[in-house]
Amino acid sequence: MTIKLYNTKTRSKEVFTPIEADRASMYVCGPTVYDRAHMGNARAVVVFDTLYRLLRHEFGADHVKYVRNFTDVDDKINARAAETGRAISDITEETIGWFLDDMGALGALEPTDAPRATNYIDQMIAMIEDLIAKGHAYAAEGHVLFKVRSYSDYGTLSGRSVDDMIAGARVEVAPYKDDPMDFVMWKPSSDDLPGWDSPWGRGRPGWHIECSAMAFDLLGGTFDIHGGGNDLTFPHHENEIAQSKCCGHDFANVWMHNEMLQVEGKKMSKSLGNFFTVRDLLDQGIAGEVIRFVMLSTHYRKPMDWTEKKRDEAEKTLRKWAQLVDGVSAGQADAKFIEFLSDDLNTSGAISRLHELASANERETLAGSLQMLGFELKAEAGVDLSELAAQLHSTRVAAMESKDFSQVDAMKAALAEAGVEVRMSKEGVELDAGPSFDASKLEGLS
Ligand code: AMP
Ligand code: ZN
Repeated sequence: MTIKLYNTKTRSKEVFTPIEADRASMYVCGPTVYDRAHMGNARAVVVFDTLYRLLRHEFGADHVKYVRNFTDVDDKINARAAETGRAISDITEETIGWFLDDMGALGALEPTDAPRATNYIDQMIAMIEDLIAKGHAYAAEGHVLFKVRSYSDYGTLSGRSVDDMIAGARVEVAPYKDDPMDFVMWKPSSDDLPGWDSPWGRGRPGWHIECSAMAFDLLGGTFDIHGGGNDLTFPHHENEIAQSKCCGHDFANVWMHNEMLQVEGKKMSKSLGNFFTVRDLLDQGIAGEVIRFVMLSTHYRKPMDWTEKKRDEAEKTLRKWAQLVDGVSAGQADAKFIEFLSDDLNTSGAISRLHELASANERETLAGSLQMLGFELKAEAGVDLSELAAQLHSTRVAAMESKDFSQVDAMKAALAEAGVEVRMSKEGVELDAGPSFDASKLEGLS
């Protein structure tokens, strides 16, 4: 099937034509590892996991290379180590473990390669030396800077000119810079900070050079897709492009950017403090699939909010679908559903198609499509809430006669314990599974 993707570079939706006809390659900027991933970080992961799944569906699971890095050298990590007195490697190891667990809970597959920046310092140094030799960079006071004005296409990804950027951005003026636009590829480290020997003295890399070096090492000079959140377009991605192109690499053909997860109209971010982590929600009993479903209900190029209403609807839908596909062996993913996904990841369209399949009781196709989208739904072990509601109602009717309500009270307590909301009236009983619903606690009841 033809896949169309919106390319930030050309500002248009294009037919995706991979460099090699039968395979695809993708690089996505990964997390800086010093803290739990927040829900905004998770959006980027879920979006590109969905693209990865679509590419695997199209080209075969062994024909897609997906690289997502871990930034494990960064001043935010150094600051966290200084605050807590912990070793940097303890912090980064622990955070990488958390990240993989939390993203796994959201149904995200692990990429084919997950390089850590600190394992690619030699490649970064080699690239920086090459850029100096070619006249695109210079060393000054233990720093190496990229000479932005030496690359005439700088700014084309985000569609800004260098002069506009200087006017609009907070570019750092520093004594070692020839031009305020120039950005750091290498900086000196004092003895208490992580550092590596280099031709410019002991130091550490800047953030942008990491991605250029790791992408080159793992994917070569040219690859198909580069992804990340749209907060990275400028300066991070402009800088990656400048470094790689000036080394003579073609770099990425298609640039894809997800929009931000917001809180009351503002980007969710660590620096604004308006974030909650994926782990916060999982600990509240919200299932990973529910978070994934809410993320996918909005197209990746639109901003979105996480709301309780969306969570509630996702829970209801997934519970219904889980019952439908229970015990069904998954068939092929539905063709129309794949068509939606192939249209620049139209996930909301794909979900509306899943609703159609559910209404038409096409269980095998629904199961196969859900699986392809990363949902492994399990029906809640034989618990039918409508049956339990009828049972509670008749027990209550009998108790009104006998005036012995002990059995009714015991059932209500068991339901509450299992996270079910109970509403009773003369007409009947309504049971609603809440966010902490745990069906296993009801096994003795029916
Ligand atoms: P960071 O750790 O902040 O460098 O971000 C890691 C990844 O998460 C990048 O691809 C960011 O673009 C993405 N990201 C950060 N905040 C958000 C947000 N609020 N919504 C969506 N993606 C985000
Ligand atoms: Zn990057």
